[in-house]
Order: sequence, then structure tokens, then C-alpha cells
Amino acid sequence: MGESLPRKDLFEIPDGVIYLDGNSLGVLPKGAASRATRVIEQEWGQQLIRAWNSAGWMDLPMVVGNQIAALIGAPEGSVATGDTLSIKVYQALDAALKMRPDRRVILSDNGNFPSDLYMAQGLIGTKNDGYKLRTPAPERVVAAITDEVAVVMLTHVDYRSGRMHDMAAITKAAHDAGAVVIWDLAHSAGAVDLDIGGSKAEFAVGCSYKYLNGGPGAPAFIYARPDVVQGIDPALSGWLGHDAPFAMELEYRPAMSTERLRVGTPPILQLAVLQEALSVWEGVDMGDLRAASMRLCDLFIAEVEAHCPALTLASPRDATQRGSQVSFAYEHGYAAMQALIERGVIGDFRAPDIMRFGFTPLYIDEEDVVKAVRVLQDVIDTEAWQDPRYQTRSRVT
Ligand SMILES: *Cc1c(COP(=O)(O)O)cnc(C)c1O
Repeated sequence: MGESLPRKDLFEIPDGVIYLDGNSLGVLPKGAASRATRVIEQEWGQQLIRAWNSAGWMDLPMVVGNQIAALIGAPEGSVATGDTLSIKVYQALDAALKMRPDRRVILSDNGNFPSDLYMAQGLIGTKNDGYKLRTPAPERVVAAITDEVAVVMLTHVDYRSGRMHDMAAITKAAHDAGAVVIWDLAHSAGAVDLDIGGSKAEFAVGCSYKYLNGGPGAPAFIYARPDVVQGIDPALSGWLGHDAPFAMELEYRPAMSTERLRVGTPPILQLAVLQEALSVWEGVDMGDLRAASMRLCDLFIAEVEAHCPALTLASPRDATQRGSQVSFAYEHGYAAMQALIERGVIGDFRAPDIMRFGFTPLYIDEEDVVKAVRVLQDVIDTEAWQDPRYQTRSRVT
């Protein structure tokens, strides 16, 4: 394990909880709550509107964007923050389509997170100009990159199975065929080592409430390759993407930097919390993190297969083909996950039968993995999942 991992002391982890859901909502970093209180009481409460300047609120979106850039292998100034990931998908997709006006196909895959596909469908409807979305199986994407494809839009790590696309190879294949590339890093940022700059992809998007621990509703981010920024014609031309928001000009004139992908007023409370959350990465080597993550996931697979034979691995067995999560299929997966959660081991469930476990080396170690599997084994062996109160599905699974 990397020398600086885990860093459990930097997080508020409830007693008795083994948290294997950092891929969905990261844990609360220490310092985040007091930062939020400070922003509310001292900055908003006392400085009021002056805080946009005096407390650095106006700079916060770019400051936080630079912190994220460092984690995904992007240059300074190339990442803008704000809105939600779905919005950033829409913006990137529209910008990409306008870069290939003579092509009409958006290529994604049928494992993609539904919101990304829904946003593509909505954009196609708005454009009403013969655009089509194609969603082959993930392993057939490369073969589907034809010269009709305007943009290849993929989620790097599959939210359900953890399967990871080969970013460098697919980006190159897309570029060889003349297509623009968008990577969704929702399950990659803070989970695997990334070199977005080196990939040469035109766009990357992601959220900050998963492995980046920014809290529920934390702002999304968008990367644009520096040499394409000034050609982007923003779909959502809000005033904070304007070159001079406070000039109050009547005509939209986009900023000359990635800031042209901003839309409206930044969520200052969430950005401040995120800035605090990102400080836990100081001194973390992403190579160490990746190595620790692969070790934890491999150990989990070995332990589950040794002790819970009723579960079937639904993630790639080869660690190099996986992100930082492991999924198992189990017929009674929903009820079993509820029983597990009640016993302090928190993972989640994705339809139809997937029990999903995220591994975040910042606050999970080998001992947690072994303990979690003991509890899982007990739930399966004693059929604890049969309890009627585990059978009703909540709105969030
Ligand atoms: C988590 C996730 C989202 C969620 O989008 P929001 O707009 O932030 O709700 C979208 N796409 C992918 C691939 C995700 O994993």
C-alpha cells in the first residue's frame, strides 16, 4: 500500500460503518462542515455581497477546477466547474457536434449511465436535424466508429460493472476516423490514474460527489482541450460564460478560456466544501492510489468467491480492466444489500441483480475488506435477507 494510504483520519466515518459506496456518494471530509459554517456565517452572513470579491467567491470555480485538473492529468485552466454532470454532458455533446457539422451520428454504448444517453436524446430532439444515437455493446464500440460518427461519447468506467474502456486506444481510433471524443469520468476521477491531456480527447466531464467527496449535489466539471476551446460555440450561453459578465452587453460573447463552458451563478457553498474535500489529495500519488485500489478489489473478489459461492462476479476479473469498484450478481441482491447495510457494511444495488461495492483507498484498507466479507457471508448463510423489511425498495437503491 502506498505510504500515504489510507488517510482515514482525514474523514468523518461513523463508528461501526465500513463504507463501500464512495463510488456513489463519498464520505464527509473533516474540515468540510466547519468550512461550510464559515462560508455561511462569516462570508455570507457578515460580508454579504462583498464576499464575491472579499472572500474570493468569484475565483472559486476556477480554483477548484485547477485542483480537479491536477487529479485527472489536465493542464491548469482547462477545467471549469458548476452545474450537474448531465448539463456538462449536454454542453460537451453540443460543442462536439458543432465541430463536425457534416456528420450525424453520436456513438456511445449500451452500458452507459442512462442520464448521458437521455441528454443525448434530448439534444437530438432539440436539434431536429437527423442526428442519431448509436449504442452498441461496450466491446463493439471500436468496430462501430465509422466515418458517419461525429462524436464518440463514453463513460470510461461502467457504473454497473466497473469495466474500464481503453481511453488511449479508443480516443486514437475515433480521431483516426475523424470523430471528436468525450470521456465521462464520473467513476474515474479520484478512482484511477488519468492522463486526460495525454489522451488528446477534446472533452471530459465528471461529477465531484463520488470519489472526490464533494457532498450531495456538489458541482460537476468539464475539461476542454486547450486548442479547441476558442472554437466552441456554447449551447448554454449564460452570463458567467461571457467574456465580460459585468459589462452587461446585450450580445453574448464567450470567454476566451474554458470558462465559456460555465453557465450561471456558481454554487459557492458546495464549491467551498469541495475545495476543502480536495485538500485530502495533497501528497497522494495517483499511481499509489491505483495500486492500492487494485489490491483491495482483488482481495474482495478472492474473499467473496471463497466465502459466498452463491454470488457471481459481474466485474472484469483482470484488475487492469476495472475501475475501483466490484460488482456481484445475486438473485436476492436487493434484500441482501439492505441486510448488509443494516449491519454497517454499506454498498448499493443496481437493477436487475447487481450488488455494487466501491473501494476508496483513501479510507478503506485490507482489514475493512475482510470484515465486510465476513458480514456478507453471514447475511447469505443465515438467509438474513429473507426478513420482510428488506423486501420493499426505497426510491434510491
Ligand atoms: C453519476 C453519474 C451521472 C449523474 O449525473 P448528475 O447530473 O450529476 O446527476 C451522470 N453520468 C454518469 C456516467 C454518472 O456516473
